[in-house]
Amino acid sequence: MTHIQQEESRRNFIKQLGAAGILMTSFPSFAFNALTDPVSFTGLPPVNVSHERLIRKVVGLRPYRPSGFNLSVQKLDNKVIIHNYGHGGGGISLSWGTASLAIAKIENETQQVAVLGAGVVGLSTAILLLKQGKSVTLYTDKLPPNTTSNVAAAFWAPVSVYESDQIGEGFMDQFNKASQISQRMFQDLVGDRYGVWWIKTYFLGGNFDFPGGLNLYPNYKELTASTSPFNDHPITEEIHSLMIEPPIYLKALLDDFYQLGGKLVIRKFNQTSELTQLNQPVIMNCTGLGSHHLFGDKTLIPIQGQLAVLLPQEEIKYGYVYPSYDGLLYMFPRKDGIILGGTSEKDNWSLSTNEQEIKRILNGHQKIAEGLKQ
Ligand SMILES: Cc1cc2nc3c(=O)[nH]c(=O)nc-3n(C[C@H](O)[C@H](O)[C@H](O)COP(=O)(O)OP(=O)(O)OC[C@H]3O[C@@H](n4cnc5c(N)ncnc54)[C@H](O)[C@@H]3O)c2cc1C
Repeated sequence: MTHIQQEESRRNFIKQLGAAGILMTSFPSFAFNALTDPVSFTGLPPVNVSHERLIRKVVGLRPYRPSGFNLSVQKLDNKVIIHNYGHGGGGISLSWGTASLAIAKIENETQQVAVLGAGVVGLSTAILLLKQGKSVTLYTDKLPPNTTSNVAAAFWAPVSVYESDQIGEGFMDQFNKASQISQRMFQDLVGDRYGVWWIKTYFLGGNFDFPGGLNLYPNYKELTASTSPFNDHPITEEIHSLMIEPPIYLKALLDDFYQLGGKLVIRKFNQTSELTQLNQPVIMNCTGLGSHHLFGDKTLIPIQGQLAVLLPQEEIKYGYVYPSYDGLLYMFPRKDGIILGGTSEKDNWSLSTNEQEIKRILNGHQKIAEGLKQ
């Protein structure tokens, strides 16, 4: 039987089952999964990887602290500063979680709060405060779409957030809490308004350590040579996670911020003494990598990341991650393009693209597309 005939006969079979009224009711669920599982029967549509389809190259600086994000309270003259920065490669994923933990540090009677930064962390923090009835003024030098948050891929998985041998006591507890709170809150935002949706994702090579706990990546499966859709990668893990579309998502957060009554001031702070002049007694510091200069946190360094973006392909509804010997490769489909990653260069402050890396990324993904079972 040819592949097309196989697919046709599968569809007919499912139709017959549906007509007989047994598909969703009495047919065993494992058999239903096998029948509808595109991996076993149809293969995955390949990404069309070529230089001609490349629509942009982007570079961003992940705000990374080997000891993990900073969620601490600092007294600065008459002000209380609550830090919420340094989320590395997982800032989108952790945003609602660390925002919740950060605002829990504010004393109840405080009404006027300043938030610094309008990336995903600042906006999430400001929105939660507004929902608590606080009066919030957000100060920032840049707004979406000109933040690092807009550069993110942004797949829900808080990766590259800390170095295991450099974290302090209690950090993992905070990290796991933040991951869980955040993932749960993102679930409520699934849909077009926020550009958030579930995506089936393959981890080629297997043995991945899923940050925050495997329960945050539902429908986990270990695939083998017969079930993996990738010819060259018989050992593959399959999960579901959330995909966030930064251009849609950050705009929606900004809209929510205004609708909830937030006030915005465009302003860059060059030194902390300027903060002591603000009207608000409590200041939430969500300046990301900006804290390196503003607060002199020299443990905060960039991990430079580069992405190649191809023309969108509607039929691609899966993602994958592959730590190849030549470097990391990951693919996520979004409305604004097929996101191909990526690079991770510690302490590189440059925002210029590296053409050799773009070539590596395109070649690597082309090979994966060619190796799909059809
Ligand atoms: C290539 C790449 C891929 C990524 N992929 C993912 C992913 O798949 N999933 C994921 O969860 N994360 C991902 N990330 C990481 C994520 O983008 C960051 O962790 C996150 O954006 C950090 O958010 P932030 O709000 O702290 O910082 P930013 O988005 O940088 O926002 C900081 C804000 O503070 C303001 N600011 C800074 N300094 C000052 C100052 N002195 N005065 C006034 N305002 C100031 C800035 O203007 C800005 O508005 C990726 C990052 C990169 C680069």
